[in-house]
Amino acid sequence: MTSPAWRYDGEHGPEHWGKLYPIANGNNQSPIDIKTSEAKHDTSLKPIGVSYNPATAKEIVNVGHSFHVNFEDKDNRSVLKDGPLSENYRLLQFHFHWGNTDDYGSEHLVDGAKYSAELHIVHWNSAKYPSVAEAAAHADGLAIIGVLVKVGQANPNLQKVIDALKGIKHKGKKAPFTNFDPSILLPPSLDYWTYFGSLTHPPLHESVIWIILKESITISSEQLAQFRTLLSNAEGDNEVPVKHNNRPPQPLKGRVVKASF
Ligand SMILES: [Zn+2]
Repeated sequence: MTSPAWRYDGEHGPEHWGKLYPIANGNNQSPIDIKTSEAKHDTSLKPIGVSYNPATAKEIVNVGHSFHVNFEDKDNRSVLKDGPLSENYRLLQFHFHWGNTDDYGSEHLVDGAKYSAELHIVHWNSAKYPSVAEAAAHADGLAIIGVLVKVGQANPNLQKVIDALKGIKHKGKKAPFTNFDPSILLPPSLDYWTYFGSLTHPPLHESVIWIILKESITISSEQLAQFRTLLSNAEGDNEVPVKHNNRPPQPLKGRVVKASF
């Protein structure tokens, strides 16, 4: 397998992504630092509706810079709706971002505060587009729920994911991951901030309606350490753990962050 043209470190790190992906310097890049005093409460924002069928959970895959838990997305069995969305968005996958130490790792910040990790639950606009590839190229194509993760008590709802990591140590490995409803990972309150942004790694398409939950969830330091044991290399190559995979915050460039609360 060839090495990717982008990484989270060194000469191919986030500050160089713009050379190969000019949109890295675009007007709608993610993540951002959410300044809570500047977020505008919008009374027209409905609560988000998550309706996930655990039978759509399919597999867990090591993608080299992270791991993805993928869902069957042939039909509307698992969808996100309402909130800032005008269509049903179909569940595709979830993944996490983390840091080398517990002091940082989230992609979005809140009033400058870094969290230890961030969960992204990715959905695509199946009402309007025939495939996720097509959706990802359009402004209303994707909707991602972002959940900030703070080190604290062990999170029993994360344990199944963490236990699955030992089966996918190397890049390219996959294992079945079935019967899972990712809404168990959400905090009790679904109050959110929303803004228009991008994928947080190449190709960095500006196609994401971000829904960042106000309330965080916890993970223990030991659980989080397991994320960092994932390897970015294929089996047989030199072992390079995925120590961190978070893009720094990007300029807001006049965008308005709306709050549902
Ligand atoms: Zn992500």
